[in-house]
Amino acid sequence: MISVRGLSKSYGDLEALRGIDLEVRRGEIFAFLGPNGAGKTTAISVMEGYLDRDGGDVEVLGEDPANADRDWRGRVGFVLQECRMEALLTVRETLAMYAGYYRAPRSVDETIELVGLGDKADERAGRLSGGQQRRLDVAVALIGDAELLFLDEPTTGFDPSARRAAWQVIEGLRELGKTVLLTTHYMDEAQELADRVAVIAGGTIIADGTPDDLGGRGDAATVISFDLADVGAAERVRGAVAGEWAGANGRLELRTGDPTRSLNELTGWALAHDVDLARLEVSRPSLEDVYLELTGTEPGS
Ligand code: ATP
Repeated sequence: MISVRGLSKSYGDLEALRGIDLEVRRGEIFAFLGPNGAGKTTAISVMEGYLDRDGGDVEVLGEDPANADRDWRGRVGFVLQECRMEALLTVRETLAMYAGYYRAPRSVDETIELVGLGDKADERAGRLSGGQQRRLDVAVALIGDAELLFLDEPTTGFDPSARRAAWQVIEGLRELGKTVLLTTHYMDEAQELADRVAVIAGGTIIADGTPDDLGGRGDAATVISFDLADVGAAERVRGAVAGEWAGANGRLELRTGDPTRSLNELTGWALAHDVDLARLEVSRPSLEDVYLELTGTEPGS
């Protein structure tokens, strides 16, 4: 659906994209992650045909978006980062207007329901809250029933339950066989939705893969941690259970590549010695941990 080779783009002296490569397959949900100013919106804008590139090859739905015609536009839907809807039009009127641009749009009322604006259908767009306006943006992206959707930070400003609802909408798109390219600063969103992610920083793709495997995450050690204030017991458990031990202030950490065995040995030892492993936790590096390590930044900073 999308093929990008050596895409570059500068704004004056600033190299926003330094030759990125990308493939997005049909039916896939692909997420772009990266700190502010990394180049995500620039890359998406080129793929949408809204921004000219300096170099590289870009094919979207088999065509160069720089030469896209009306037909091509009808096959692509967007949520732009900055959307300003006509403030005086109601939600229903806004969607009816956009539906008019497409040959085979979705039903306006169904789309309103889909994004959870059912009780706001007759409200003017200018009187919606920030999160509700974003839902309207998502509805506008969906109204054309496009086969490829670009969603630039689609859930920014959503409350937690609205985000969950939006995820369901996006999951629903997958079931309809649509292809989605989204950007997000929410790692849980990428984890939940994306088949594949690419991390972009300083105009370069620094890592890509599935959310579970990104940056070697799939092979990373599991960490088992628990509280054990008794120094003697802590000493004994370190001797009894193999693995890489660390910890401070009464909290012990065991890194292991074989968590099933390590947990069995650890809990077996604790039961046999009548020791309570308080606040026992088993964790693997989250997508956010890997992202922070790759980019050396806080998400959204
Ligand atoms: P964010 O997460 O904040 O949305 P992003 O990854 O989408 O960031 P871009 O908007 O692509 O980043 O910006 C990449 C770089 O290009 C930034 O340094 C930005 O300041 C610069 N830039 C973007 N648009 C323009 C423009 N129209 N003119 C000049 N510089 C620009």
